[in-house]
Amino acid sequence: LLVLGIETSCDETAAAIVKNGREIVANVVASQIESHKRFGGVVPEIASRHHVEQMTIVLEETMKQANLNFSDLDAIAVTEGPGLVGALLIGVNAAKALAFAHQLPLVGVHHIAGHIYANRLVKEMEFPLLALVVSGGHTELVYMKEHGVFEVIGETRDDAAGEAYDKVARALDLPYPGGPHIDRLAQQGKPIIDLPRAWLEEGSYDFSFSGLKSAVINTLHNAKQRGEIIKREDMAASFQASVIDVLVEKTVQAAKHYQVKQVLLAGGVAANRGLRAALEERVSQLDGIELVIPPLFLCTDNAAMIAAAGTVLFQKGKRATMALNANPSLELA
Ligand code: ATP
Ligand code: MG
Ligand code: FE
Repeated sequence: LLVLGIETSCDETAAAIVKNGREIVANVVASQIESHKRFGGVVPEIASRHHVEQMTIVLEETMKQANLNFSDLDAIAVTEGPGLVGALLIGVNAAKALAFAHQLPLVGVHHIAGHIYANRLVKEMEFPLLALVVSGGHTELVYMKEHGVFEVIGETRDDAAGEAYDKVARALDLPYPGGPHIDRLAQQGKPIIDLPRAWLEEGSYDFSFSGLKSAVINTLHNAKQRGEIIKREDMAASFQASVIDVLVEKTVQAAKHYQVKQVLLAGGVAANRGLRAALEERVSQLDGIELVIPPLFLCTDNAAMIAAAGTVLFQKGKRATMALNANPSLELA
């Protein structure tokens, strides 16, 4: 079973072919980071224009890498949301055009379902499982009893983890996207600055990162006014320690409570070395719970994950018509 995946929800134009939902046959990602860097974030108009320019090139490259024709495919899966509407539309229309031209079934995929299914390209899923989704726009704990069915048991009440990384990075004068820079600096610093941890109510699996972000900005501001010097490395290490403490503790609590067989890590922030190491240490202490973490290239946006999730939905009978539209605020559950 060969599925072509297409992803254009944000600033990566991506296409990939996945076999049987688990094996990457081809995987192409054209990143626009360089074009957005000088604006300190993704500019929607620029993103759409790049997708238009890159889409056919990326698709051609994917077919070439796979050494396949469109007639060899069984289905086309595309990210229908959430994301930037003008960006999503480019992928959705490309997918519809290909499905129509080659008479192939079309499947719409939720971007976060894709991030979760990146793990299936590493390891077969065992249910029930818990996925910790940490990306640029989402921070969620997702419980899954079976393929393609998602229950959000906790989510951020304000900023997403990746968003907090990017905002704190900006306060530290680091380039966009800031996550990888903070990750690197954190390895060289010490978590000696006292920062808050938002545990919220007892038993809640929700998250909150805006207080932490404000605390970092205030601490930097106050130090500057007093003429004190805070090492960027120490601030990065302290911020990261606070984020990781809460993410890991809530994940472990939820994994125990729901008695899951696996914990999956998903989303761009899953590339974070500190988070990966902390989860590995804590989950290895839990009896009978396996941790799955995708390699770095499958953590950030790509289309292999969309093809992987699309395969499962296709097998469950999900089909989209030519009326498929981009939905910037699509819900996962
Ligand atoms: P969403 O998936 O919620 O729609 P998105 O697609 O923009 O948002 P991703 O591409 O999944 O987000 O992830 C990008 C985010 O990951 C950015 O905020 C970036 O700073 C963060 N990130 C990437 N690498 C790291 C890292 N090593 N440490 C921390 N954060 C990282
Ligand atoms: Mg991105
Ligand atoms: Fe993403």
